[in-house]
Amino acid sequence: MTYKSKFGFGCMRLPLTNADDPTSVNQELFNEMVDIYMEKGFNYFDTSYAYHNGTSETAMRKAIVERYPRESFEICDKIPTWALTSESDNEKFVNEMLERLGIEYFDVLFIHNINVPWFKLAEKHNSFEFLKDMKKKGIAKKIGFSFHDKANLLEKVLDKYGEYLDVVQLELNYLDWEDESIESHKCYDLCTQYGIDVYVMEPLKGGVIVNQSEEINREFENFNPDKSIASFALRFCASLDNVKMVLCGMNKMEDMIDNCDTFENFEVLSDEENQFLEKMGLKLKETLAVPCSECGYCIKECPSMIPIPEYFHIYNTSKNQPESNIYRLYYDKLADEKVPAEDCTYCGTCLDFCTQNIDIPEELENVCKHFEEGFSPYG
Ligand code: SF4
Ligand code: SF4
Repeated sequence: MTYKSKFGFGCMRLPLTNADDPTSVNQELFNEMVDIYMEKGFNYFDTSYAYHNGTSETAMRKAIVERYPRESFEICDKIPTWALTSESDNEKFVNEMLERLGIEYFDVLFIHNINVPWFKLAEKHNSFEFLKDMKKKGIAKKIGFSFHDKANLLEKVLDKYGEYLDVVQLELNYLDWEDESIESHKCYDLCTQYGIDVYVMEPLKGGVIVNQSEEINREFENFNPDKSIASFALRFCASLDNVKMVLCGMNKMEDMIDNCDTFENFEVLSDEENQFLEKMGLKLKETLAVPCSECGYCIKECPSMIPIPEYFHIYNTSKNQPESNIYRLYYDKLADEKVPAEDCTYCGTCLDFCTQNIDIPEELENVCKHFEEGFSPYG
């Protein structure tokens, strides 16, 4: 395994033609990005039944499967655990996923988003045994699950099923490494202890890591003016021995080129760089109001249709960049054109879906207070 082979193309945040419509994938741009990625010798693509409301898989069929020989690329797909209503649903979803992608086997097949409630559901519907059977039949070359919870649950799952699983996909980045609500470090160590490969998702925490205050940007610039903040974050993950894949969601060509460059000329993170990132992580946390990675899983589940990550995004940005009052305008516009954050009924439906364990209703209340008070950075 080389460092170069650790760079995966995450297909959860593809370029769109309409920012408000997650199904409007910009196929032309996506095709061009796939071409550059493949030309440079990379070949791993990650998707799920749920990404872009199913359009990620079909866009991948058009960009990859219909344009490249099957043996030249690898695809990982994920069964939507939360949508299982019976044991036979496992097979129903897998057949649909294969059809949408236009392939006959997966290189990697995951149970999606294991946390406390979805682990119960996956067990109830025998999803782990189903995965084992898929591998036996050659429909999946490797099997595992993506994980969004703490180390004590991970240990329980690995104790029970680790023996026949190949991979666990973890949220891992320098901001969450020692974070108590994510526990990336502990989860990474557990996978290593069980002899299971780690694939990394959210190396930039959904963009949080690159959307920082001017002060932090300047510190990175002074530390090394030739390297992007993203390149440090990717190197942090890929420098770990048991990390075998780092997924990067990309919707701009310039990000694709920069990330390809990071992995083509890979350098293991030095101790000095590690210490610098640790310091920058602590600084970033000080200005982060809500640790939302903008994954969007909560939106579809909210009966009031509140655009939750959009509110959290402007909340974070107004704290990062308090000198501008532009975010007050965004807040008003959002509440006007979509649904006001005040409309939260505290039903709690979104909580099981949050990949960052955020108390969403409580934070929405903080968002309202913050903007009502004229968003003082300390409000
Ligand atoms: S608690 Fe609020 S944000 Fe969450 S699903 Fe219910 S209404 Fe939506
Ligand atoms: S609130 Fe949670 S589920 Fe919703 S977008 Fe943010 S991280 Fe994802």
